[in-house]
Amino acid sequence: HETGAPGPEAPDLEGRDPGLVIREGVPVSTRFDDVYFSREGGLAETAHVFLAGVGLPEAWTGRRRFTIAETGFGTGLNFLATWELWRRTRPAGGVLHYLAVEGYPIRRGTLAGILAPFRRVGDLAARLIARYPLPLPGLHRIWFPEDRVCLTLAVGEAAAVLPEVDAAVDAWFLDGFAPARNPSMWEPAVLDQVARLAAPGCRLATFTAAGAVRRGLEARGFAMQRRPGFGRKRECLAGSYRGNAAEGLRPPGRVAVVGAGIAGAALAGALVRRGVEVAWVERRPAVAAEASGNPVGVLMPRPTLDGGPAGRLSSAAFRHALAECADRGIPVGGDGVLELAGEPSVIARHGRLAAIGALAAVDGRIVDPAEASRIAGVALDRPAIWYRRAGHVSPPALVRALAGPAGLRPGCPVERLDRGGPTWRLVDAGGAVVDEADAVVVAGGAASGALLPFGGLPLRAVRGQLSELPETALSRRLRAVLTFGGYLTPATGGRHVAGATYEREGFDPDAWPQPVTAEGHERIRSAMPPLVGAWFEAAMPAGGRAAIRATTPDRLPIAGELTDAGGAGAGVHALTGLGSRGLVTAPLLAELLASQMLGEPLPVERDLAAAVRPGRFRERSAHRRAG
Ligand code: SAM
Repeated sequence: HETGAPGPEAPDLEGRDPGLVIREGVPVSTRFDDVYFSREGGLAETAHVFLAGVGLPEAWTGRRRFTIAETGFGTGLNFLATWELWRRTRPAGGVLHYLAVEGYPIRRGTLAGILAPFRRVGDLAARLIARYPLPLPGLHRIWFPEDRVCLTLAVGEAAAVLPEVDAAVDAWFLDGFAPARNPSMWEPAVLDQVARLAAPGCRLATFTAAGAVRRGLEARGFAMQRRPGFGRKRECLAGSYRGNAAEGLRPPGRVAVVGAGIAGAALAGALVRRGVEVAWVERRPAVAAEASGNPVGVLMPRPTLDGGPAGRLSSAAFRHALAECADRGIPVGGDGVLELAGEPSVIARHGRLAAIGALAAVDGRIVDPAEASRIAGVALDRPAIWYRRAGHVSPPALVRALAGPAGLRPGCPVERLDRGGPTWRLVDAGGAVVDEADAVVVAGGAASGALLPFGGLPLRAVRGQLSELPETALSRRLRAVLTFGGYLTPATGGRHVAGATYEREGFDPDAWPQPVTAEGHERIRSAMPPLVGAWFEAAMPAGGRAAIRATTPDRLPIAGELTDAGGAGAGVHALTGLGSRGLVTAPLLAELLASQMLGEPLPVERDLAAAVRPGRFRERSAHRRAG
């Protein structure tokens, strides 16, 4: 990605911070004129005020899952101290979730210097910095699987992002600068959310002893006490939640996952990472046999103008998929993706996307034809959006990496799901029970519908074909992925991949493998802009591949538990309807579904989780009938 240095309008996402200075060895916020942690010892302050304040490590003894939430992630020192304690005292098989809100993330380049003096957590700081996200608004989920620690960083103003968060918090750390200097972190709307997210018996700790904070928390159901403060501070506060004891979720001990495309693989991997026993089955002889078996796929976002769930989910999922690729050593090829704009209406749309900040949220920007040509390494005659972090990946490699150590039973077709008392049975065509589990996730693409109880889902099979084109003297200079309705990747091993058709009829959805047609090749070729198509004028396709995708009426994927007519969940979940976007969306949707099943903080905003839940179709048709 070294071509085309960012222009002046591109934000510097990784440089130094304008918002803080180091004074007497401690970072001080210039915005709030307050220290990030005590001059008398940051780690000692955390141990006294926060860890001891909520009764750790005793509080997580015997717990399979423990969730801490923090207002003000700052330098991450509280997180690192918690992780360090977890590493020494964690319960066997336990998972620690740490959800932190931060309105003004410190840049990665600054963190290393701030954290360097804390040698006791030096190795953890290095791991945090290596995985630290770009400071883009929204939720960022970062796993440290070696220690079963999961950080969810919610970037935004506390009063704005907390209402969008879903979690059952066992311990709250309130650490948002002194209330007198920064009332925004202590306002009633924020304290309301602290109480909303508290699990029964939730503990709370804060460095401040301000009377208004104590009274505000008491009014919301916390029993509060004063404790001796740290260093020169006389007192601080601790408390525990006496509020409503919500009915607890009973997480499944053993989960069956049906399907070994990218959805099933990501989900099986997400569950295994959490220590859940997984029975993973697939009708074909191996993983990634169908649509996820394409030789190349394009990893790019699809922001939208309306601020609605489709665009925001795509952007969040894109950022998450990039992080997963980086973590798991899956290369993202090409010098980014250039989304070409030919028609005036498309150029105008791109301009509006830039104007509302939707491109900046995925580190994209508009480039003119000259710059697009420089980035691509070939002459292009139109402007484009350049997504510099996007690119092409190998779907089968990503599928295998996401599955991690999850073990697959291939060649195992499931015909139906039978309820057998408290468990679900996977039954084959001959009536034999192939497996049994407390919960089932159906991730079978367009074939999912037949397996799903409670009336199924409105999935539609759409056929997609791609062409492999031999490189030419001109085309081999292409360095970026081009999209133009269709797409063309840079040549690897002498071949480009171009795609894809979107066929709604005229094929047999049950055929496997899907036959490749000359008509499909023709359609792919004719969708190319003239300048691009000319490279391949005389070339015959060197190969192709076709597969079936599952799409939904509202074009949003499906991730969540199915509900019966009364709205009750029954342990059958779906992860399907990913269309042609599974490469981008599957990793985040698998995190979402695994988190829902286990009662963890969700990795996406509540409205996004709601937008993809399976029950939406039935609710809409009931609504239509009623109206
Ligand atoms: N816990 C941190 C640590 O371990 O380094 C120190 C947190 S520092 C005292 C307070 C943090 O809250 C700062 O990083 C600041 O940017 C953030 N902050 C302040 N007001 C905020 C608001 N209204 N919404 C979100 N974050 C806010």
